[in-house]
Amino acid sequence: MEEQTVTTGKIQLYDTMTRSKRLFEPLESGKVKMYACGPTVYGDPHIGNFRSFVSIDLLRRWLEYRDYDVTMVMNITDIDDKTIRDSAKAGEPIRLFTQRYTRSFLHGLDLLNIRRATANPRATEYIPQMISFIQQLVEKGAAYIAEDGVYFDIDKYPDYGCLSGMDLTQSQTTERMSKDEYDKESAQDFALWKRSTQDELIRSESEPELAWDSPWGKGRPGWHIECSVMTQDLLGDTLDIHAGGEDLVFPHHTNEIAQSETLTGKQFVRYWVHIRHLMINGRKMSKSLGNYIGFEEVLAKYSPDAFRYFYLATHYRRPLDYTDDAMKSAEGSAKRLENTLDLLETAQKAADTNLDLGPRERRVLEDVEKQRASFETAMDDDLDSHTAIDALHAMSGTINDYLTTTPNKGVTLRVYMIYRKLLDALGLFEKRGGGTDKLTEDLIKTLIDLRNHYRKDKNFKGADEIRNRLTSLGVSLTDNAEGTTWKILK
Ligand SMILES: [Zn+2]
Repeated sequence: MEEQTVTTGKIQLYDTMTRSKRLFEPLESGKVKMYACGPTVYGDPHIGNFRSFVSIDLLRRWLEYRDYDVTMVMNITDIDDKTIRDSAKAGEPIRLFTQRYTRSFLHGLDLLNIRRATANPRATEYIPQMISFIQQLVEKGAAYIAEDGVYFDIDKYPDYGCLSGMDLTQSQTTERMSKDEYDKESAQDFALWKRSTQDELIRSESEPELAWDSPWGKGRPGWHIECSVMTQDLLGDTLDIHAGGEDLVFPHHTNEIAQSETLTGKQFVRYWVHIRHLMINGRKMSKSLGNYIGFEEVLAKYSPDAFRYFYLATHYRRPLDYTDDAMKSAEGSAKRLENTLDLLETAQKAADTNLDLGPRERRVLEDVEKQRASFETAMDDDLDSHTAIDALHAMSGTINDYLTTTPNKGVTLRVYMIYRKLLDALGLFEKRGGGTDKLTEDLIKTLIDLRNHYRKDKNFKGADEIRNRLTSLGVSLTDNAEGTTWKILK
């Protein structure tokens, strides 16, 4: 019998702040507050961005697999230097411009089977909170007013730069940086509030969502303050996990820490998770480098599952290069895993029944349990999806082998549920025709019929065995005058 164990509290996560793997322990037992920096919506998403989003989805799914109750927020940056610049270039009101690319981003999430966050706040929905946050920083003496806006004084936060391990003696902290994005070499006071330029003021006459009234004149927030404010509003002062692409370590996350910890005096984030860039021909894929590949272009050639598999088959902190060969190989491997699902489903529908629970059956169940344990151990180790997928292939081999002769349907049901659950943890093959829920229902009904058949024959041992197995899978049976009903226990 499977024992009920508490499965939370085993996961090791690599924390950028400590540069080491640490046992994951959330602030509140069993609950995870997680924030991921979402996209700046100024163009169609490309496949480089989605390495981060798929990895973050994997993290969230694994926490849920381990029974954590996850609240996840992913923001949408719909006001910053780039959205203002490119909506002007497109000659389009910024609101319509960012709405279009927000839709395109969310569509990309759905295509890749990335679960929607608990909330997707837009920066422009939080302007009053941002103004109040900045005001408090000014009152504390950590921010000052300059000609073109309000700046954070990085000298007021002694640990500035700790996340990236930067050497502050090299930088000129007397300088100010008005841009949202800048180099690692330039640790400078950064903009919290930017006064509208002449051009922006003219545009704002017809586009009110470009400039807001503030104690420092008409303007708009800097990029970094947006995340500090939305995290605090939706998740509180301290987050369990803050995740994003590795390029966000500096300046974005560095500045978020400085602002948030200066304001609250509390630790801002307990675990920092950063995902490595996707490369193409040995270089980072990015919109600004112009070497990116669009989403639709890849999905015209490969299935979304193959694409997800491609991302997941490499650990999220290891280099990953996009090539056609790598995609073809991912497609082949994903197909092999999916083929096993097909075989399991076909076996369940077959009319032949094998009631043996002999050495062969027992060995299959044992092997599958071992493979499941390997999968879980790998995933607990900082989401080693590469090794976990190896275990899944081993499981697929064991199952395929067993299915070459008439299988015991009790065994295949059990194996199916394990296999399916691990695939769900990776988010693979969830959108197959027919749907898995219907199949699961049919399988449970088949077993209930079999059990009733045993009971009629007074084979109570066999009948109890089926009930116990179903119970251990979380399916509870109730016998009544009309027959047997079942439900899945959470
Ligand atoms: Zn952010």
